[in-house]
Amino acid sequence: MADNKEYRFDTQRVRAGYDPKNHNNAVSPPIYQTAAYDFRDVEHARNLFTFKEVGNLYSRVGNPTVAVLEQRVAALDKASGAIALASGMAAITYTLLNLAEGGGSILVSPYLYGGSTDSFKKVYPKLGIKIDLAKNILNPEKLAEEITENTRAIFIESISNPSAVLLDVDAIAKVAHEHGIPLVVDNTVATPYLFNPIDHGADIVVYSATKGLNGHGNLIGGLILESGKFNFVTDKFPQFSEKYYTLRDPEGTLRTFPEVFPAFPFTARVRFNYLNYFGASLGAFDAYLALIGLETLSERLEKQSKNAVAIAEYLNAHDFVEWVRYPTLKDSPSHALYQRDFGKGAGGVLSFGFKGTAEEREKFLNSVELFHYHVNIGDSRSLIVNSPQTTHGELEAAEKAIADIPENLIRISAGLEDIADLVEDLEQAFQKARA
Ligand SMILES: *Cc1c(COP(=O)(O)O)cnc(C)c1O
Repeated sequence: MADNKEYRFDTQRVRAGYDPKNHNNAVSPPIYQTAAYDFRDVEHARNLFTFKEVGNLYSRVGNPTVAVLEQRVAALDKASGAIALASGMAAITYTLLNLAEGGGSILVSPYLYGGSTDSFKKVYPKLGIKIDLAKNILNPEKLAEEITENTRAIFIESISNPSAVLLDVDAIAKVAHEHGIPLVVDNTVATPYLFNPIDHGADIVVYSATKGLNGHGNLIGGLILESGKFNFVTDKFPQFSEKYYTLRDPEGTLRTFPEVFPAFPFTARVRFNYLNYFGASLGAFDAYLALIGLETLSERLEKQSKNAVAIAEYLNAHDFVEWVRYPTLKDSPSHALYQRDFGKGAGGVLSFGFKGTAEEREKFLNSVELFHYHVNIGDSRSLIVNSPQTTHGELEAAEKAIADIPENLIRISAGLEDIADLVEDLEQAFQKARA
């Protein structure tokens, strides 16, 4: 790729972050299956350790295959820096620790992945980090009332899992910035193809690469990206003004993360503090698989969105369905935001309320033949699951009510199959459930 040209999204997702000339002219990014990297000489080692030169040291903190993935997703998200990690949960955890370490609070959307909500309840309070569940995430003009002296960030999902709730990211970012705190967006369901959180004011973006980003259900991975625009050198974030011995210059002067990495202080601090010491690193082989998955990101998301629209419309007209949640439907509370912000579709995740007894609902799930029954999303294969009893099963009744996850909710993640086969499969399962 010519360095001096701004390539478009579909070019970047197959080419960004990789130049064959630097890798023995290999067309496909090689899998650097190595733990460590030789130093040329003592000076080289010194330069690497004092950040005078960038290079590889040890694969826990950086690996050339993983770096291609980081740079490619950074290009797609128009981010100034990125770090890939062993899972989406690692990406969320390292992000929130990096923001709120030492006793901060995070204001969070109620419409979140079950693992996020559950970790907020069980793990963070024990680490001294308070999680405040936002009451006004759908009314950002009132959100300011919920930000305290101690709030260090707002955390939301751009398309929520499982109910596909859309939020006014621009308005929420504005409130965050007025209070000197960053907005973190989990963009897993949308992927960079459907939504660019940084364009809408987000400062940090996190992904589970396990889902649509890779899209083949064959790895666990995550990423954190930053816009490079948020100023962390304020009283709220003393960790970004802290001078570290490990960041000393060749003369021995201690430095801060923003001094050494002005374009991407946030992900640099995640890398050299959290990844370095907590160690949830992504393996080279998984990064390689994610890069192959990314090559077809646009085509997959386009087809999955199309299949999801057809499934939503089929379900919406069905006698055995109480309601359908999908932003393309005109009666969806998210429809206006869908029309404003989602020009390329709403993704593959939708949910519906099964009309009938719990027994009939279970019979319906036991009767699908083509849909896979398991907890992933964003796979090339269509998936179906009873979220309230599985993926969001950790939530107590009151929490499910706040998160708007009724007991009869069934989640679908539309894959790449022929839509007629998918609809026929649902129809025969409904018939068996009611027989
Ligand atoms: C799956 C998921 C995660 C967690 O990612 P893992 O890769 O499974 O750790 C986080 N956020 C969302 C929205 C998810 O769907």
